[in-house]
Amino acid sequence: MPSKTGFVYNDLYLEHDTGHGHPERPDRLKAITKHLQNTAMWTQLQHPVFDPATEEWILKVHSPQHWKFVKESCLRGVEVLDQGDTHVCKKSYEVALLAVGGVLAGVDAVMTGILHNVFCAVRPPGHHAEKNAVMGFCLFNNVAVAARYAQQKYGVDKVAIVDWDVHHGNGTQEIFYEDPSVFYISTHQYPFYPGTGARSETGSGRGNGFTLNCPMRAESGEQEYLDAFTKEILPRLEVYRPDLIIISAGFDAHRDDPLAHINLTEGTFGKLTIMVREIAEKYSGGKIVSVLEGGYNLEALAKSVKAHIRELM
Ligand code: ZN
Repeated sequence: MPSKTGFVYNDLYLEHDTGHGHPERPDRLKAITKHLQNTAMWTQLQHPVFDPATEEWILKVHSPQHWKFVKESCLRGVEVLDQGDTHVCKKSYEVALLAVGGVLAGVDAVMTGILHNVFCAVRPPGHHAEKNAVMGFCLFNNVAVAARYAQQKYGVDKVAIVDWDVHHGNGTQEIFYEDPSVFYISTHQYPFYPGTGARSETGSGRGNGFTLNCPMRAESGEQEYLDAFTKEILPRLEVYRPDLIIISAGFDAHRDDPLAHINLTEGTFGKLTIMVREIAEKYSGGKIVSVLEGGYNLEALAKSVKAHIRELM
């Protein structure tokens, strides 16, 4: 009996080549799929088929200049898109469109009731990508496009984006900073890359109060995260009553992750998933679209994704 949980993945995601030694590498997705294929969960997951996202949807959150810059730079063979770590290959543009496309297919399946929820094992990740800038391994902001798509295609009123990646999702925050119809919530190591995500950043204009940052000190662990969720995040979600929840599911807050200094275990991600799922069951008919962001220790990543999906099912 198949479950109503989906798993979005495509082998083309492995062809976004970031170069030797880059932490955001194809092996991340290989580790996840290999680990899940060895479990009984695998045959119960549904696997949506999907197409690349079209320019129309990318431009709902990114500028035409940004779209053109990513497309032309990749096709021209440029290897580094910014001053930092955003490495690409000729295929990266095509792969990035399929990453967004996979997430949009996840939205379709959840909004039409084919699935209750879905995990999208996509790359490149998205939450650092701003309206007009690539950043931190991210080309297009997968979750931001998904939120707009759900609103404009399905008339979803209020979307909550819960971002537990260890880094602050500066791109997602920027895109929705003045927008009360998308509530952006983040836990992240702070101060840390990318530098944003102070508690005082709460949105502006009509969006004031619809950004919630829960900065975490280096070496924080499960208890600090459970406190942030039970004392701050869940009460705010109860008031907001989201019609759809999108998770920016990074797993780099795991204690074995090489890029950060937070001490969660795979079990913590299971507990956070249960809490978000309970809110979804109460207000959004259980609808959750969860999208992979970071996570760079292969074993910790695979185990964390498994613990996350187990609680979605
Ligand atoms: Zn991260």
